Amino acid sequence: MRPVLICAILTVSLALALVATVNHPIPSGLTVVLDFRGAHSDPSIREMESETSNILKTTGLKLDWRLRNEASRETYPDLVVMTFKGSCKFDMSPRVYDEPGPLASTKTTDHQIQSFGQVDCDHVVQSARSAMWGGDFKKADLLVGRALGRVLTHELVHMLTRSADHGREGVFEAALSGKQLISPTLPLAAMDVDRLMSGFESEQ
Ligand SMILES: [Zn+2]
Repeated sequence: MRPVLICAILTVSLALALVATVNHPIPSGLTVVLDFRGAHSDPSIREMESETSNILKTTGLKLDWRLRNEASRETYPDLVVMTFKGSCKFDMSPRVYDEPGPLASTKTTDHQIQSFGQVDCDHVVQSARSAMWGGDFKKADLLVGRALGRVLTHELVHMLTRSADHGREGVFEAALSGKQLISPTLPLAAMDVDRLMSGFESEQ
């Protein structure tokens, strides 16, 4: 199966109730608000959070997770909002895409990357499932969570670097296959860790 473009940068006008910003200099912590619009499974979401935190560990960035309804009652200095459309739950029946779009997107206004993104859960689940075989199906929830974590990490790097550029290897490549989404590890390439770290430093 061909690698799927992982994300698109979408131009939007900002008329959103929750204001999300990443202030610079970037602190050691970032709050990630999760807004699920469809079905999701707790084991998959826990795995997504753990995979994302693990991949970004090398940058020193610590993530704090909130659901959308919790976040509206509090304020956070550094916040991104990720919306999950479709079903983030594993299911066996393949969905056919006539025109497969990206797995996720990050929004821009006036050519500026914003701290809002969207994950197409049905598409991520379908891509992860396409690479599963044998015993993988027994841990499908975990593998879907891992795939979601990698897609989410990719979008967070766009938001943190405020750049639409991509890396040459690892989780920040422009396109990722189902196999890459569920393989035991898919790190952030050293070049992209540097990109993040220098981004942090140059703003300080
Ligand atoms: Zn991308």
